[in-house]
Formats: sequence, C-alpha cells, structure tokens
Amino acid sequence: MSVLEPLRPRGSTRGGVHVGAYRFGIGAGGSDWRWHAVDLEIVGPRMADAVAGGGQRGDVEVFSVCGTRAELVRRLGQFTYGSRWLSQRRCERCGWVVALNRGTVEAEIELHVGAAGDGDTGLLRQVFTSVLADVAPGRDAESGHRSDLLAHAALHRPTAIVCERCSERSSVAEVHGHGVTVCPQAQLVCGECTFTAGRWAGEREGLSTGECVVPAPCSVLVALARHYEIPVGGRR
Ligand SMILES: [Zn+2]
Ligand SMILES: [Zn+2]
Ligand SMILES: [Zn+2]
Repeated sequence: MSVLEPLRPRGSTRGGVHVGAYRFGIGAGGSDWRWHAVDLEIVGPRMADAVAGGGQRGDVEVFSVCGTRAELVRRLGQFTYGSRWLSQRRCERCGWVVALNRGTVEAEIELHVGAAGDGDTGLLRQVFTSVLADVAPGRDAESGHRSDLLAHAALHRPTAIVCERCSERSSVAEVHGHGVTVCPQAQLVCGECTFTAGRWAGEREGLSTGECVVPAPCSVLVALARHYEIPVGGRR
C-alpha cells in the first residue's frame, strides 16, 4: 500500500479495486509511545517530493496533528473508530482534532464516556458539550484551545475497573461465586490520575496496581464542572 493512495480523488478505482480515500493515517511516537493521527494531506506531498528528489519517504520529518514527532505506519491504515490498533494507546489530543475535522464528535464523546460502562453519570458528556458550546473552533486539522481542552477532560474520563482477579478471568461468577454478574469490588476511577502499570507489566499493562486509586470524578473533572456550572454527583 502506498502512502499516496489516500491522496487520490475520493472513490477512485485502481485495477478494478475501489480505493478508499482518507485523510488521517496512524503514527507512533511520543515519550510514552502512543498512536497519533498524521495528516496525509500535509505529509503525503512532502514524501512524494522527497522521493521525486531522489530521497526516501523516511527522510521526511513527520509530526502528528497534536504536534508530536511520529513515525507514520502506513500499513495500519486510517485513524478511525473501527481500527483495532487504536483500541489502546490512542492519543486523546489527536482523537479530538480528527473528530472535529471529520464531524464525528458524537462518536468521540461516546468513546470516552463508554469507559465508565454502566457507571456513567452523564458528567463527562456535559463537560464535553459545555466546552464545545463555549470555546470557538480552532484551525482545521490542528490542535488548539478547543481540541486540547476536550482532550484534557477526556484524559480524566471516569473509568470502570474491577478487582484484580476479575480483570484476569473471563467470568465474574468464576471469581465471586455462582450467579454473580457484577464484580462487587467494581469502582469508577479517574483513568489518568489512577496509577496503572506500564509496558513493564506485560499482560497487566494498563491495569491499576492498587497503590494510587483516585475515584471519579477527580478534581480535574470537578474543576471543569464547576466552571461550567454543571452539578456534580448523582445519576442522570
Ligand atoms: Zn497525538
Ligand atoms: Zn483525573
Ligand atoms: Zn471482582
């Protein structure tokens, strides 16, 4: 697959195969090695110029839409919701830039609100909609005040976690007894403020290690809620 494919006219047909057009590819980068969005409308022509000039695509310095130095991984395809690559380590700042550009704000909200599962109180959604109503749009396909503030809230999304044994087994009943469907130790924590294991933990990466568990909503979400006069606490 060529990086130039996404730059073809929308809906072009090559060798009888429909080539889907898309703007944002996936790049890996940052000190914590996450998946970022790369604007192919900017990077594609630069890479084409490099190749035309006798160089290589890899000679072009690539930055994600959030401004992180990244390596474009073309085989991962499009920065979009169906991508299995983006189920983990997806950059929140890039996510909002792409959502605002593509008009997929509702899907972006659902993605972050969904981390709370059944424990969602509606607070995070209200914060998102308040920011969207309050802060003016920035430059297209670039991070700015609006997208970064939305990403700040998204980082601190209420996240449902279960006990250590439940996180390791597929069935709650197996851990807590026949007929039990919800882990009795399940709780809603801040996904950012709560300490979670890094890559050194192997399969347990991303899980809480227990020393620093910060209940949701954390002070970041509460501060945003206060600013926008959203009542905190209680279910919808
Ligand atoms: Zn990013
Ligand atoms: Zn937090
Ligand atoms: Zn459990």
